[in-house]
Amino acid sequence: MKKRCDLIIIGGGAAGLACAVEASKTFGGSIILLDRKPKVGKKLLVTGNGRCNLSNRIMSEEFYHGSFDVKPLLEEFPDLRLFFEKLGLYTVSDSAGRIYPLPNTASSVLDALRFAIEKKDNVQILTDGHCNDLQKTKDGFTVKAGEHEIRGKAVVLACGGCAAPVHGSDGSGFELAKELGISVNKPYPALCSLLTDGTKSLDGVRCKCAASLYRKGLLEKSELGEVQFTKNGLSGICIFNLSAAFPEGEKDVKVSLDLLPDYTQNDVYNMLWNVCRTRKRDLAEEIFNGIFNRKIALYLLKKADIPTSAISAKMDIFDIKKLAALSKKLEFEIKGRGDFSSAQVTAGGVIGSEIDSNFMSVKHKGLFFAGEIIDLWGDCGGYNLHFAFSSGIKAGRSAVKLLSEKEQR
Ligand SMILES: Cc1cc2nc3c(=O)[nH]c(=O)nc-3n(C[C@H](O)[C@H](O)[C@H](O)COP(=O)(O)OP(=O)(O)OC[C@H]3O[C@@H](n4cnc5c(N)ncnc54)[C@H](O)[C@@H]3O)c2cc1C
Repeated sequence: MKKRCDLIIIGGGAAGLACAVEASKTFGGSIILLDRKPKVGKKLLVTGNGRCNLSNRIMSEEFYHGSFDVKPLLEEFPDLRLFFEKLGLYTVSDSAGRIYPLPNTASSVLDALRFAIEKKDNVQILTDGHCNDLQKTKDGFTVKAGEHEIRGKAVVLACGGCAAPVHGSDGSGFELAKELGISVNKPYPALCSLLTDGTKSLDGVRCKCAASLYRKGLLEKSELGEVQFTKNGLSGICIFNLSAAFPEGEKDVKVSLDLLPDYTQNDVYNMLWNVCRTRKRDLAEEIFNGIFNRKIALYLLKKADIPTSAISAKMDIFDIKKLAALSKKLEFEIKGRGDFSSAQVTAGGVIGSEIDSNFMSVKHKGLFFAGEIIDLWGDCGGYNLHFAFSSGIKAGRSAVKLLSEKEQR
């Protein structure tokens, strides 16, 4: 089916939706928002554990990594709360500055964006449309997506990266950019789990820890937060943030967990000793459940070579010292990163020097980029969505400006 429009937005994720909202505010021309999935905004629904941590009160380029210079964008969009309030969505923030929608559900964010777009007569949403061809023509661009062939005067590429492909972003946006001669830094998973042996028995355990990553014995980065053990490694927000400091393929990298960060090793020793003395007749495997998660207690006993069937009274001062030390420094040798299926975001992408300050391609006038397709990613805490939304808004505004100028000529 052949179609014509002024602006084609490829990708209906956070960036593409924000772009469509912004562009349709002032622009009377026709806009098509194209997505390969049956519904737009699928990934948004799973963000922030279903609550959508959409931004952060503490905003700085220090929280971002990659070849794109994000500083000017953050200066222009330090705060997105007004953008959402204008859509009728209010927000709240927690003590770490993380901003969430007031209704505390990610669906309220998607609804606010979707409703704003759906009420505009000049915006058409086309779903189940996987764009596999993007060509520059004399007067614009041609996009092919399944049965659709769409001609547009300008295009915004907002296809995301490779992270969490089940929600739509499968890396195909990078191929579209490369076909147009645009340089792309090799994508790799960022904010992902770290793989290690020996965590099978801890699968499913969540524990507040201080986690530190050591490269060749030197401390690289520390984070405080919840660690989630999986059958093949470590996950959770603080591990995601540490994963950035692990260069793929590097040897001699360890993560050390302090399982009781609010207590000194001496405090832990005293707690363990007291429990042993007051529950002399009980088995080792039973007595530490009031201090550690049961699976962790069993794991520590095994690591310390203490039989779980030993009678507590049989444990001596050295056993207790060993347990206390292990609980403060439980080390895991890191074998690799989790793959894109477990990653929250993609590192790599369209390199910064390919994009001007209006988010337009320096090689192709009328081609814009927004969101995770760009070589920039942020720490956990709302930084990735802040970038996706604000770059989407900026690309939308810039595209409208360009199209309006063309019309006046
Ligand atoms: C589990 C999880 C939780 C997260 N939680 C948070 C959080 O709380 N806070 C935060 O800041 N960040 C979070 N993130 C990261 C954040 O979701 C992303 O950085 C952000 O969604 C990127 O937005 P985007 O629009 O650029 O890409 P996406 O959201 O990936 O959207 C891209 C869209 O393009 C479509 N598409 C892709 N290729 C094509 C094609 N060829 N043709 C047509 N359509 C195409 C896809 O279907 C998709 O809808 C989380 C990520 C995950 C996976």
